[in-house]
Amino acid sequence: MTVRTRFAPSPTGFMHLGGMRTALYCYLYAKKHDGKFILRIEDTDQERFVEGATEVIYSSLKQGGMSYDEGPDVGGDFGPYIQSKRRDIYMKYALELIERGGAYYCFCSKERLETLRDDLGNARYDKHCLKLSKEEVAARIAAGESYVIRQNIPEKGVGTYEDAIYGRISVDYSELEDNILIKSDGLPTYNFANVVDDHLMGITHVIRGSEYLSSTPKYNLMYDAFGWERPTYIHLPPIMKDATRKLSKRYGDANFDDFVSKGYLPEAIINYIALLGWCPKDNSEKMTMQEMIEKFSLDRVCKSPAIFDDVKLRWLNGEYLKAMTDDEFYQVAKDWITSSKVGESFDNRVIAQLLRTRVEVLNEIPDKINFLAEFGEYDSELFFHKKSKTDKEVAIKLLPSLIECVSGLESFDHDTIYNALAELATRLEIKAASLFWVFRIALTGQAVTPGGAVEMAQILGKKVSLERLNFSLNMLTK
Ligand code: GLU
Repeated sequence: MTVRTRFAPSPTGFMHLGGMRTALYCYLYAKKHDGKFILRIEDTDQERFVEGATEVIYSSLKQGGMSYDEGPDVGGDFGPYIQSKRRDIYMKYALELIERGGAYYCFCSKERLETLRDDLGNARYDKHCLKLSKEEVAARIAAGESYVIRQNIPEKGVGTYEDAIYGRISVDYSELEDNILIKSDGLPTYNFANVVDDHLMGITHVIRGSEYLSSTPKYNLMYDAFGWERPTYIHLPPIMKDATRKLSKRYGDANFDDFVSKGYLPEAIINYIALLGWCPKDNSEKMTMQEMIEKFSLDRVCKSPAIFDDVKLRWLNGEYLKAMTDDEFYQVAKDWITSSKVGESFDNRVIAQLLRTRVEVLNEIPDKINFLAEFGEYDSELFFHKKSKTDKEVAIKLLPSLIECVSGLESFDHDTIYNALAELATRLEIKAASLFWVFRIALTGQAVTPGGAVEMAQILGKKVSLERLNFSLNMLTK
């Protein structure tokens, strides 16, 4: 048997991290077993149609490194892979299910359905139309009456199945209701389309969120009524924001694209979400897609909810950045540098080199480097450094020699600057650390810089460095 998994998102206009994780587990499971990973777009809810939403799904999956073997934009033998293009298929099977007793026509009006509401506002359908004769149904359809098709759930009995993660699941049929399978617009609901499509597309393993655990017995009734083999079910634990709240778009923190535009690398996000609900036997954390495929197994997927840990995601993203070459980092960082106040005024490759090991997320870049472009009055207390024995007074004493030393330099490479300052410190009989501290503050007005004083001077260049040293001296002595 060839394993076939599918990711079946509804096009809502964004890709939720929970959806990305479902897609990832579908992908990993399929690839681990040399199977096929399929993308199916579930767009039968036309009211929720969002322009461009399918493209967001395609691009997010591609960015996340999950290329699908079959799907709307890549084709395949089991298409169409967009549900709105499969309308006739659903109708054909709905009629067959009616023949088999698994479904029935319902003509009830909105008003009648309203009367079924209980005190809590829940309306449970009372099988009113189940007793209509075939002739009556045919006559009402011929008269042009609007109808839906409902599933015929047995009033008694228990639906049971084995979920690969949650184990045995049993649901009393009395808790389920005769949901609509085909709406009055002729389109199917999820409840019907998922069954028909999963069967026709040869899906062997249905991997999806745990919110479908308790409705799965309804789907099994249809598989059984059609005489189709049930797939293996793999329901995944929810991803939580904290102990009580699910991670959701409502908190504005669950969108894959948003994370990417905040400066997280797609591969780091994917690696991180793999760990939300699964952990490999060897407890590896940083893994390539290939390593995840090799290590993935269902017995390491847990059923308890996973908590989204922002700190860990940041850390992992930082690890990915550190592991890059200078050039790779420059490619992902350059837009962040040029869109900061720094713009194009310096050698941005040198700035990028310094930043590579100093940021966890790329959106930290502007704050870390804006001082290179902006310089003005700053707090003279910054010169105070206990260990280096420096303060404002020491700075006033050292700055004239520093300025003289820097202006005498013929070249401005790292070693020349460093050696000249070290010699100056020896000459002045002070610790090199003290001189470097004064140099750094006077050049940048910052206690923390991405790199030491000499690197900052190098980026600023001789002319700007001297201007800043002079500015600082004036500021301290005015
Ligand atoms: N369209 C459903 C959703 O987005 C898919 C659920 C499933 O994978 O069966 O939740």
